[in-house]
Amino acid sequence: MWVIVHAFSGMALGALLTTRSLWEIAIWALLLHMVLDIIPHWDYTRLVRRVRWGAADAGLAVTALVLARAVFGLEWGIIVAGAVSAMPDFELLDTLVGLKRPRLFPSHRPWFPHGSCAPLPGVITQGAIVIASFLLLVFL
Ligand SMILES: [Zn+2]
Repeated sequence: MWVIVHAFSGMALGALLTTRSLWEIAIWALLLHMVLDIIPHWDYTRLVRRVRWGAADAGLAVTALVLARAVFGLEWGIIVAGAVSAMPDFELLDTLVGLKRPRLFPSHRPWFPHGSCAPLPGVITQGAIVIASFLLLVFL
């Protein structure tokens, strides 16, 4: 899934776990990343302009996390959950420049049931997750 999807869903998870320790929140955020990677989705990593897509995706995720803390004053547990949930995808950056090293994160390993589907349903799925996460952050 896109980095921004992991960042928003992680922040939503963090909003649900505010009474827990940062370590516990981080572990749940990593588990959430793996669960979301199972859901059929579409990635831009095979597009010609994947470097631009990746830069925009990662840039939006970082911007969302910075704004969430600096402008909206969300708790650190929420920010940590968003950042930790997004972090595993940074090991995929080499894909953008045509390299493909062995992956460390479980849901990026070849044996993991990584979900994929056509662009339209894949984008709609990810958009729905971002919107649901955003609504959860706003109304929780
Ligand atoms: Zn991933």
